[in-house]
This record gives sequence, structure tokens and C-alpha cells, in this order.
Amino acid sequence: MTDRISHWIDGKPFTGPAGRSGDVFDPATGEVRAKVDFAGPSEVDQAVAAAAAALPGWRGTSLAGRTRVLFAFRELLSARKHELVKIVTAEHGKVESDAAGEIARALENVEYACGAAQMLKGGFSENASTGVDVYSIAQPLGVVGVISPFNFPAMVPLWFVPNALACGNTVVLKPSEKDPSAAVFIAELFAEAGLPAGALNVLHGDKAAVDGLLEHRDVKAISFVGSTPIARYVYETGTRHGKRVQALGGAKNHMVVLPDADLDLAADAAVSAGFGSAGERCMAVSVVVAVDPVGDELVAKITERMARLRVGDGRDPASEMGPLVTKAHHERVKSYVDAGVASGAALVMDGRGIEVPGDGFWLGPTLFDHVRPEMSIYTDEIFGPVLSVARAASYDDALALINANPYGNGTAIFTGDGAAARRFQNEAEVGMIGVNVPIPVPVSYYSFGGWKDSLLGDSHAYGPEGFHFYTRTKVVTSRWPDTSHAGVNLGFPGNS
Ligand code: NAD
Repeated sequence: MTDRISHWIDGKPFTGPAGRSGDVFDPATGEVRAKVDFAGPSEVDQAVAAAAAALPGWRGTSLAGRTRVLFAFRELLSARKHELVKIVTAEHGKVESDAAGEIARALENVEYACGAAQMLKGGFSENASTGVDVYSIAQPLGVVGVISPFNFPAMVPLWFVPNALACGNTVVLKPSEKDPSAAVFIAELFAEAGLPAGALNVLHGDKAAVDGLLEHRDVKAISFVGSTPIARYVYETGTRHGKRVQALGGAKNHMVVLPDADLDLAADAAVSAGFGSAGERCMAVSVVVAVDPVGDELVAKITERMARLRVGDGRDPASEMGPLVTKAHHERVKSYVDAGVASGAALVMDGRGIEVPGDGFWLGPTLFDHVRPEMSIYTDEIFGPVLSVARAASYDDALALINANPYGNGTAIFTGDGAAARRFQNEAEVGMIGVNVPIPVPVSYYSFGGWKDSLLGDSHAYGPEGFHFYTRTKVVTSRWPDTSHAGVNLGFPGNS
């Protein structure tokens, strides 16, 4: 019998009728391992109602009390991270060491949220006018929705949920329907950590669940991460319904290799960042821009390393790269390889023929050289183990390529020249820059976010911008008068 994965509403598993559902695969075997419920309007209403009912109590819980729950959650997650690793690998397919890395980065964000007391301090100006004090208060927004993608089923929810809760909001989390179990595990751990029922709810589903949240009048803000077309839809629909929205979208991350770079270091980085998690990372390197004359030597070094990559079941410690998440995604990525060949790019290594036991969604590491900006393998986010090398005549040509690209999530430069790196960090129109670092995901006390089509809205995720996003400030102007009285004055208040 196939397992049923259902919503987590008001501190317990949902046991109502299932309605529509979707298949959750084990990507390494191709088998359906569970069916996940898809929420309709009634389940959306129940989840939002539970969050709304929990709001006064959670919002009213002291900072010390909220922080204690976050610390307890941090301890539980740290102690039970190996279970979460297994869950992530079973449904996403990434190798267990990679899943462990995802959870380590998630923990950083939980730890940051534990510092909420420091982050929520307001300003205070004593005697701004004679006898008048002015101060600011940061307050929660209310019920907030978090909608997350398949590729980081633990980390992306934990970019948002701890900070949102730390600020005193209650949350409805709608994880990807492709790997929904990590979100339920997280909700269970929060309950064990002492989070009151209803403060965090998990709603599974597809567009209907997302639309329900976007349109619900009791949902005050939406944090979304996913592909750019859906990010744009979520941003436009959510803001039209009066919500604060941050919508992080897709990417096409370029890694520039200047002629003075250490080419072994650059080749290691390109292969690690191109094929880690089978390329299913929004910060994956998908285009290496080799600045003349290093192209041939760099491609040879990348190819050598790719040939040694071990592709296999993520549960096998010998595997370095797992399968793609679903058959449909596998077909899509493979079709880009076909399109790359048809468009005349040089196929240096072809992953289409890879043989791995079982009926998993396997595609081997694939490399194209001499990729041109008009080819679909360059213009589109492929989100698979397909790396492109584009040749550039100069630093300026490489930079122009990056700045002409509609995406602006991450980019990296490999060089031994500090002045060139400094110029690059200034000139690249991209939100996250790596200098000899291929995947520059900011630590939790900075914020994560791209520019241009990689982020709609004006708040980046987590860190200080996360706290800013999840609160609204009030400024209080206060006077405790002595008994003398100024009398009525219809003029605009001045300061004296
Ligand atoms: P996706 O856009 O297909 O799905 C994201 C979320 O939106 C899921 O919860 C999904 O159920 C929901 N959704 C899907 N179709 C919808 C529709 N028509 N209407 C409303 N909601 C819908 O993305 P994905 O395939 O799960 O994840 C991969 C994408 O996410 C890539 O484009 C990747 O670059 C991006 N991503 C971006 C970042 C970032 O920080 N910028 C991080 C991780 C992933």
C-alpha cells in the first residue's frame, strides 16, 4: 500500500478526506513511494484559520519565550538531522552528503533566528522635542505564507520559517509537492520544541493551494522561491491582493575564468558547482565563461574531472551525483541536450547514455563547448547536469555577457588579480558574487537574493532583510506631560 502524506494543521496531521493527490517518487528507483494530498479551498481555509487563531498567543509570547522554542528546535534538528538527510535523499535524490550540507546551512538560519531579541530592538530618541521621546517598535505582520521549491526541501523552508516565527508571525508553509515529507518532519520537530499548535502549518498541493494562499485575506505576506515564471505570477497576484511579497526566481549563473586563474582550482570549482545536486541548485554554475586563451586547456581539465564522477543512488556513500527529481524533469533536461546538439554547440561529454541499475531518472554529466548566447541551452535555465562553456575574447566581453542576461542570481570570477576581482564585484549586475568561490550563498547573517529576473520584490531572503520583511515598524511619539498645559494649537507640530 502506498503511504499517504497529508497536511499538518493546528499541530497535528490532517485526517480529513484526501481529495486530489500527486505521486511522490523515489528518483533513484523510479517507484512511487507515496501519494501526497493536494489542498483545495477547504484545507487552505483550515490551515489559515489555524494560523490566525494561533496568532494572538504567539505574537503575545515574550521574546524570551519565542527564542526558547527556536533554541529547542535547533537542538532537536541538530540531534535528528540524520533522519532528515534520509528523507531528503529518498524524495529528492541528491546524495546524502549533499543533503547533510543543505541541513547544515538550514541550521545556520535557525541559529540566526535565535538572535531575534537583538534583531528586533527598536530605536529610541530621548527628548527629541522638549519632554518628548520618539521610538520605534517592530511588530509581526500576522499570518504569512511560505511557498518553496523541490530542490532544497529542508533548507528553503528554513530560510523563512524560523525568522518569520521569531518575529511573532504564524506561518502556513506550502512545500513542493515533489518532495513534501521534509516540511512535515520540520513541523513535527517544531511541535516537539514547544511551538504552540497552529503557529506553523504545512499545506501540500499545487497551483490550487498557492492560489488559495495568494487570495486569502488573512494571509498578509508571501515568501516564494521557485522558477521565474511562477515567481512573477506569485508576485503579481499576491501584491494585487494587498500582500507583501518576496518572490525569488530562477537563475543562469556564469563563472568567469580569467587567463591568470589557477586552472586546476577553476576546473574543480566548475565541476563541483555544475554537477553537485545534479545541477538542481539555483546557485549552480551553468555557464563557464573562459576568457581567451584558456578555453581549450580549461575544457580539457573539466572533462578529465567529469569522467571520474560517480553517478548513483544517493544512499550509496560512493555516489557523488544522484538522479533528477522526476521523470518529467528528466525528459525536459534531456530535451535541452538534444536541442544543444541541434543548435551546433560542441557536445564534449554526453550524459544521455549513462547506465545505472534500476529505473531511476538518470542523466550523466554533460558538457557543451562553444555555446553561443542565442542557443536555448544558454538562454534557458536547464536545472540539470548540463554545463555550458562560452568563449569570451576579454574580461569586458565576459562581463557584457553576464550583464545582458535577464537573470542575476549568482556569479563568480576566478582570477589571481585582485584588481580585476574588485572591478567585477562592482560591475556585475548580479546579487551574489563569488571571488574564487563558485557557489557564493551568503551566510545567514547576510541576506540571500538575486537581481533582475531572479527576484521579484525588494527584500532578499533571510538575514537582516528577512527580519525586515517579516515585521512592520511603528514609530511612537510620546510625552508624559507635567501638569502644565500647552493649550490648543492647530499648527503642524514642530520640535522645540
Ligand atoms: P516551481 O516554480 O515549479 O515551483 C515552486 C513552487 O511553486 C512549488 O511549491 C510549486 O508547487 C508551486 N507552483 C508550481 N507551479 C505553479 C503554478 N502554476 N501556480 C502556482 N504555484 C505553482 O519550481 P521548482 O521546479 O520546484 O524549483 C526549481 C526552481 O526554483 C528553479 O527555477 C530554481 O532556480 C528556483 N530556485 C530559486 C532559488 C532562489 O533562491 N532564487 C532557490 C531555489 C530554487
